Amino acid sequence: MEKEYQLIILGGGPAGLAAGLYAARNKINTLLIEKGMMGGLAVYSEWIENYPGFPDGIDGMELGQLMLKQAEKFGLKTLYTEVTGLEIKGSPKIVKTVEGDFTAKGVIIALGSERIKLDVPGEKEYVGRGVSYCATCDAAFFRGKEVAIVGGGNSAISEAVHLAKFASKVTVIVRRDKWRATPVFVDKAKAEPKINFIMNTIVDAVEGEENVKQVKLTNAVSGEKSVLPVSGVFVAVGQKPNTELVKDVLKLDQVGYIITNEKMETGLPGVFAAGDIRSNSIRQTITAAGDGATAAIYADRFIGE
Ligand code: NAP
Repeated sequence: MEKEYQLIILGGGPAGLAAGLYAARNKINTLLIEKGMMGGLAVYSEWIENYPGFPDGIDGMELGQLMLKQAEKFGLKTLYTEVTGLEIKGSPKIVKTVEGDFTAKGVIIALGSERIKLDVPGEKEYVGRGVSYCATCDAAFFRGKEVAIVGGGNSAISEAVHLAKFASKVTVIVRRDKWRATPVFVDKAKAEPKINFIMNTIVDAVEGEENVKQVKLTNAVSGEKSVLPVSGVFVAVGQKPNTELVKDVLKLDQVGYIITNEKMETGLPGVFAAGDIRSNSIRQTITAAGDGATAAIYADRFIGE
């Protein structure tokens, strides 16, 4: 495989794939590296209703595949591997992976964010045995079973609606009496008879034997303890940026997201950041794609200088 490129994009979510489309269409020799599945966190959304151009909505996984197909049509090259290190201060930029080193004049970092863990006893032990961070991926394993989903944001609510297609009962556990989710999502979940809600409630532990059997709860207002019998616990309590590889070389905000200007420039010449990994991102599929396009346009200008 070719080792030298004009541009390397790290991450195959909507930001990386939009950047790949713009760069490849501008005839920049571009490699996009993704370690998992193309589509980023959008693949967690079973049905995306707010991405323009799809009036009936679109499955997140399908949207990722369509973005990839479109970028590859213009010549984007892709590599599925893990990035292990970056030397991006000088030129050329060096991207170290388990498949060897790759170089480029410019780099777009679109590594997105990952799910935050609940960090309670039993959570880690039962991953894959009842604890999941992706309802779209794992809901079918819980057909006819009772499950809980923790969180009160758009992820928890949209995943509860998806889980209700498989599970016999879905309990959404929210730690306050307020939603972070958009009202239209909450209304949709409330209209689904299989979904019920426990507000003001904190998960203390996940328990079971071979597989998950129950979660232990505390009411945040009364302090009352209870146990909810479930076969599955889906965790959707927010996201954190995948900035481990760049935290020592790029300027990050207080919560660890990469600071950029409106051109998606990071402060290091030739290094751009786009999508959920970027400070002040709205963290929507459409805004990530917009960031990717902007980053590719300015990366193109940088490469041409
Ligand atoms: P989020 O908006 O940050 O919401 C996280 C939720 O989890 C909040 O209800 C939060 O409660 C709760 N939480 C945090 N830590 C907790 C803990 N330790 N125990 C229990 N609950 C906890 O995260 P998200 O839902 O993953 O969404 C992230 C971003 O993606 C958002 O910008 C969202 O709009 C976007 N998104 C969009 C769509 C869509 O438009 N289709 C779908 C999914 C996600 P507090 O409110 O008390 O902090």
